[in-house]
Amino acid sequence: MSRRVQEAAEVDLFEYQGKQFFAGYGMPVSPGEIAFTVDEAVAAAERLGIPVMVKAQVHAGGRGKAGGVKFAATIDEVRTHASAILGLDIKGHVVGRVWIEEASDIAEEYYASFTLDRSAKKHLGMLSVEGGVEIETVAEENPDAIAKVWIDPVDGLAEPECRDWVAAAGLPDAAVDGTVNILLKLYTAYVEGDADMVEINPLILTPEGQVHVLDAKVTLDGNSVFRHEDYAAFDETQSRDERETAAHRIGLQYVGLDGSVGVIANGAGLAMSTVDVISQVGGAAANFLDIGGGADVDTMAGALEVINNDPAVRSIFINIFGGITRGEVVANGIVEALERVVINSPIVIRLDGTNAGDGRLILEPHFSDSLQMASTMLEAAERAVELAATGGTGV
Ligand code: GDP
Ligand code: MN
Repeated sequence: MSRRVQEAAEVDLFEYQGKQFFAGYGMPVSPGEIAFTVDEAVAAAERLGIPVMVKAQVHAGGRGKAGGVKFAATIDEVRTHASAILGLDIKGHVVGRVWIEEASDIAEEYYASFTLDRSAKKHLGMLSVEGGVEIETVAEENPDAIAKVWIDPVDGLAEPECRDWVAAAGLPDAAVDGTVNILLKLYTAYVEGDADMVEINPLILTPEGQVHVLDAKVTLDGNSVFRHEDYAAFDETQSRDERETAAHRIGLQYVGLDGSVGVIANGAGLAMSTVDVISQVGGAAANFLDIGGGADVDTMAGALEVINNDPAVRSIFINIFGGITRGEVVANGIVEALERVVINSPIVIRLDGTNAGDGRLILEPHFSDSLQMASTMLEAAERAVELAATGGTGV
């Protein structure tokens, strides 16, 4: 099950939110602006001055490799890159916003993070001169390149200890003071900010000798949101609040997610497994939506409308298990709802349980490329993910 639904406990920040969070603790980050459209990206670059980086904002790592991080030397390039990156699918996350940031010159790239080591009951700091690549890769190929420090939460991280750690990592002299300064602030942000994880990859040394934060990955402990007024804003943006507001207004159990497969299911358990099975087959759900046991025409039409209005949705998976709800009632609901709402994405239906056969007969005359039925949940998920990947929009 998607972490966000199961444990509302964790709040993943976008890179730009993570950088705002870090800046609040005095860490050096580059000036930048968020943009939702190509024109906004261009305007931002004009204000910041080129060259800039155009960076996809999604809750996934490895954006650079996926073509989601580009250097723009001219305004024309900003336009080209923003056009290419907005709408790009990165590991099932559709890019809806880009961060435009003043480009930095890089001499070296490092890695730094803090997480909780539950078994040691201590905080674990990791620092490496092999930054810019995924830490899992470094851990596998060159584990000695990662300097670790275990910090007792009661004692905290003192400066001498931090210096020893940086020395152990083998950073060049020019980078030592700047790195110590950032690590101490990063630790404070991690502890005082109630984060479960903070990561800077890369932390860079510039040719001028400045140490600087170039990427930010932050997971906040959602249970602490009440202690931090400003965290509500982080959570709101990531849940694409408008979608949730619209869904809740018509009484739907809806949670916004980052993927491109719209989900409609009856029952919270089934909706959760639907989200799960979509990620199992390599896709990502755009939402969790439980239409409840009733599943009448109005509810179905409302659900389809909410999902249809989500620009990230590329295909829709309707997963119904008829218990009290009978198959033919659901099928009639779907047919009538489709007459009311013009749907932009192909739909895959899986209908099982009570009177599923009758439901199928009702739906059959409406089958087309944009309305298909699959006999199992897995098959339906595979279809829906495939359709989402092959650009299901505009059907
Ligand atoms: P990730 O791929 O999702 O981890 O995204 P990052 O923000 O870490 O960017 C990926 C890579 O792009 C970095 O490791 C850098 O090598 C490069 N990069 C990011 N920002 C800049 C920049 O301002 N200047 C330069 N020259 N390279 C950058
Ligand atoms: Mn990175």
